Amino acid sequence: MRVLITGAAGFVGSHLCDRYLAEGHTVIGMDNLITGNLDNIAHLFENESFSFIKHDVSNFIYVPGELDAVLHFASPASPNDYLEHPIPTMKVGSLGMLNTLGLAKAKGARYLLASTSEVYGDPLVNPQPETYWGNVNPIGPRGVYDEAKRFAEALTLAYQRYHGVRARIVRIFNTYGPRMRLHDGRVVPNFIYQALTGQPLTVYMDGQQTRSFQYVSDLVDGVYKLLLSDEELPVNIGNPVEMTILEFAEAVIAVTGSASEIQFVQPQDDRIKDDPKMRRPDITKATTVLGWQPQVDLTEGLTHTVAYFQDKI
Ligand code: NAD
Ligand code: UDP
Repeated sequence: MRVLITGAAGFVGSHLCDRYLAEGHTVIGMDNLITGNLDNIAHLFENESFSFIKHDVSNFIYVPGELDAVLHFASPASPNDYLEHPIPTMKVGSLGMLNTLGLAKAKGARYLLASTSEVYGDPLVNPQPETYWGNVNPIGPRGVYDEAKRFAEALTLAYQRYHGVRARIVRIFNTYGPRMRLHDGRVVPNFIYQALTGQPLTVYMDGQQTRSFQYVSDLVDGVYKLLLSDEELPVNIGNPVEMTILEFAEAVIAVTGSASEIQFVQPQDDRIKDDPKMRRPDITKATTVLGWQPQVDLTEGLTHTVAYFQDKI
């Protein structure tokens, strides 16, 4: 296949490039570097099956030649990033959607949208199955991301139903691993950085909010299977092992062997506004439809990630 991956210089996008190249496909990476970094794909520039186009996908996209698949991963994803870039986030989730779906339609390519567990908002059911419609505050600070992704899902289904584009939607739950930005503000890099530099781990509020952390290779595997599947409706891809943020801080301290303490803090800005109190994927559909399930447990995934950050620091 000849595959276009938007957001290719980001954390997830760069791992997707590696996987599609390893499977023998030709990859065109596209990114405007708003939150990504060319270091993440520098190792691919010698590979003749890989090319890179620096471009903002919220503007018209021109790709010469045939395309078999478009994977739309471009979007700020860390809460800090989308709070800092609210309008580019809404643009890439709307104009970027129209451009990438239009491109897939014109080329007769398969399409895959990177959606998110944030479409469930601050959920009132736990775990979240794909049939849950969510509990999103459209006008809160997270609304720029959540509503862009909800619009993106609706548009994807419209192109699928009206234009016959073979579109797939993955709802990604918290994913971590090497190539996350050290200071992107998400809890995984924050805690690992703090643990490795002997600073207190900043647990927001009382740390009783929950998340379920998935290692990046499991996500990439789920995406790879979903693109080739016949499933037309969204599929959750995430690790169902749920823990409190306080437990997660303790896990990071254990894996790093750090002497850091835990500090409870109350950010005064928008970071914790509408922060979901619980999050855990119901992965029944991914297991039955795709034959997928996570393979990497937290200790193993954190060990790889800590090694990466140690190197960066
Ligand atoms: P990231 O910030 O590392 O990567 C996003 C990439 O998209 C960056 O390289 C950025 O420069 C690029 N980008 C943003 N706007 C663009 C534009 N207009 N044109 C071209 N490139 C643009 O984030 P990530 O964690 O790798 O997330 C990738 C995708 O996965 C996002 O769509 C995100 O919503 C989704 N997702 C990620 C997670 C997670 O836990 N990592 C969870 C749910 C959903
Ligand atoms: N969090 C925290 N300390 C930090 C960063 C984040 O306690 O230094 C919490 C945050 O409030 C949220 C959870 O960790 O409850 C996950 O936050 P993240 O930004 O990684 O992503 P989210 O799941 O909210 O999109």
